[in-house]
Amino acid sequence: MTWQREPWSNSRLASYRQCARKFFFGYVQKRQKLPTSIEAYVGISLHNLLEEIYRCKIDERKVEANWDLGQWVELYKLSFFKNMPNNVRIARKNTRPEMYYRDAERMLKAYWGEFAPFDEGEIISLEEMYSINTKSGFTFRGKIDRFMKEEEWVIIDYKTGKNVPKANIFYSDSQPLFYLLLIHANYPDVPLDKLYCRWKYIRGNIDFIRRTDQDELDDIEQQLDNIINDIISIPPLEENFPTKVGSLCWWCDFRGSCPEIKGKV
Ligand code: SF4
Repeated sequence: MTWQREPWSNSRLASYRQCARKFFFGYVQKRQKLPTSIEAYVGISLHNLLEEIYRCKIDERKVEANWDLGQWVELYKLSFFKNMPNNVRIARKNTRPEMYYRDAERMLKAYWGEFAPFDEGEIISLEEMYSINTKSGFTFRGKIDRFMKEEEWVIIDYKTGKNVPKANIFYSDSQPLFYLLLIHANYPDVPLDKLYCRWKYIRGNIDFIRRTDQDELDDIEQQLDNIINDIISIPPLEENFPTKVGSLCWWCDFRGSCPEIKGKV
């Protein structure tokens, strides 16, 4: 399958928006990435643990279903260091994996304090991949951390990064709208006025809520199709995908081969 016809996702589009060259290296040339960053590893490890905790609510016969916070912390600590890649990438100077672990443990405890015993409602899906076909026949997909039926239907996305966006940045972000689009297409019986996204910033117990309506969803679906058509119409040569240097270059998976960065730091 050519890169143009491979499934599209929010992270693929976000990569293009952040820096077209990064997109080119990753999705067109498929260059080898640098090892996982420690920040990404913290996010993955916490997502995995929360998934396990909620799986115990689906199947209460699991041994861990009656575990207390101390037992989950113990498991988390063991698996954090056991599964951490040997070559995990640490971009911030003077930091060590133990510091990231302590930070992650604090997030886990804060989350536990807010949500235990985790019976917010009915779990419909956990870490499930949803997809749609756009009007031009592209596949667009996204993995949704948790989809719940509470008083209303809720799409939950955990955020573990240090930067919490300002409200206006969150509301102009297309990711929540993409997720609403995916769920609305896959669960057409769920009324749109009873469906929303909750972005859960675990670090500070901060929630952002995003709702939508049919007009906005039609608009975002059209925009999605247009953006993809625009990108695939670019002749796939490196010079057609300009670099965009910024603070995120420190975490770029291709900084080792980027002409803007290579050999300069
Ligand atoms: S290092 Fe920066 S400029 Fe270079 S590809 Fe990555 S994001 Fe783009």
